[in-house]
Amino acid sequence: MSRKPGRKPTVKHALVWVILLAMPVRSVASPHSPRQAQGFRLTDNARVRAALDWFTPNISWVNDQQVRITEIPAPPFQEGQRAAVVKELLSEAGLVVQIDKIGNVIGELRGVNEKEIVVVAAHLDTVFPLGTDVKVRRDGSRMAGPGISDNGSGVAALLALVRAVQFAHVKPQRTILFVGDVGEEGEGNLRGMRAIVDNYRERLKAVVVLDGSGTDHVTTKALASRRLEALITGPGGHSWSDFGMPNPINALVRGSVRFINTKVPASPRTTFNIGQIEGGTSVNSVPHEARLKVDVRSESEDELTRLESALRECIIAGVRDEMDSSRDRSKGKLEWKVELLGSRPGGELSEDSPLLAALRAADEVVGNESRIERSSTDANIPLSLGIDAISIGAGGSGGGAHSLQEWYDSAGRERGMKRALLTILGISGVAEDKAR
Ligand SMILES: [Zn+2]
Repeated sequence: MSRKPGRKPTVKHALVWVILLAMPVRSVASPHSPRQAQGFRLTDNARVRAALDWFTPNISWVNDQQVRITEIPAPPFQEGQRAAVVKELLSEAGLVVQIDKIGNVIGELRGVNEKEIVVVAAHLDTVFPLGTDVKVRRDGSRMAGPGISDNGSGVAALLALVRAVQFAHVKPQRTILFVGDVGEEGEGNLRGMRAIVDNYRERLKAVVVLDGSGTDHVTTKALASRRLEALITGPGGHSWSDFGMPNPINALVRGSVRFINTKVPASPRTTFNIGQIEGGTSVNSVPHEARLKVDVRSESEDELTRLESALRECIIAGVRDEMDSSRDRSKGKLEWKVELLGSRPGGELSEDSPLLAALRAADEVVGNESRIERSSTDANIPLSLGIDAISIGAGGSGGGAHSLQEWYDSAGRERGMKRALLTILGISGVAEDKAR
C-alpha cells in the first residue's frame, strides 16, 4: 500500500491504524508472519536461549551418538536395526515415539496448536550394502567411515535438537515431529518421506530436512530425477560353438554407446549417468542377460521425459544392430525392456515463504551466510506438492559422501545445530511464558 503525500487520511485509514495499534506485538511469534518469526524475537525467549546453550557443552555426546548410529548398518530396505536405536534415543529424551508401517521413526513434541505440524527429518538409510565395514575411525574431531556424514551427521543433529528443546522445556506453537525416515537413497525412492507427507498432508505446514554436513547451503529447489533400468535377454550359449548368436551384452553395449552420445542442454541443466552395468556368467559363455542402470536428472521434467525415450530408442537400436549382425538366429532372439525404477518429482520453495525467512533469520543470528541450492533430497516430495520444505546440512564439515572414504569433522558443528533449531522454532513458533 502506498500513500500519496499531502493526501488527508480518511476515516477508513484512521480505522486501520487503530486496529493495527491495538494488535498485540509481543504475543506468540506467529509462524504465519516471517517478520515476527525472526531469530532476534526467538532469542528474546529464555527457554530458546537455554536450548541454544545446550549444544556446546554436549558436543562429545552428539559425536558419540553419531558414531554409534553410523556403525549400525542401514542399507535401503534394511533400516530396522538403526530405527530401533533412534526410537530408543527419542523416547529417552521424553518424546512420544512410534514406528510407522513403512519403518519411519516418529517422535512427537506436542505444540499448543496440535492441528498444525512441522516435520524435522533425517534419513536413516545409507547407500552401503550389508557387509560393508562401517566401523568408524576417530581422530580428534575427525571421524571416518561409510555413512558418517550422509547421514550420520543429520541423524545425530536430529537427536541433539530433541535433547536441547527438552532440556530447555521449549513448548512449540505448532506440533513438531522429529522423524528418522527410511528410503531416501537410491531405490528407496523417498518412500519414507512419501509416507510422512501422505499421512500428515492436511496438517503439514513445513518440512525441514537435515542431510549431510555443513551450513553453507539451503536447498529450496528440488532437482527432478528418474532412475531407469534396461534389461536385454537372449538364449545364451557357448563362446566357441554358439559364436554368432545374438549376444545381450553386445546389444547393451551398442545401445549404450548410442545413448551416451545423446546431447543434453547446459540450460536447463540436465545430466545422465550409467551407474551400473552387469550381466553374463562366465568369460566363455554367450550371456543370457545384460542390464544397466541409468540416473537422469534435470531442472526440467520435459528433458527427463526426452532422455527416458532416448534410452528406450537406443536400447531398441542396440538390439536391432546386434540382431542384424548375428549369424545364427536359430536358437532365439533378443528381448528387451526399459523400466522406471524410481522417479523424484521437482518443485521449488517460493522466495517469500515464511520457512525461507525463518532460515535467513537463523543465519543472521548465528552469523552464517548460505546460498540457495538445487538438489535431490527428501524435500522433493513436499516441494512437489506445494508444501514448504528445505534441506540443510547439520553443521561441521564432511566429504567423500557415498564412498568408503567418507569423513566428517565435528569442529564448529554447534553452529549448524543452532541454525537448524532457530529455523525450526522460527517456523513452529514458540509458546510464550514468564521465564523470559
Ligand atoms: Zn543423504
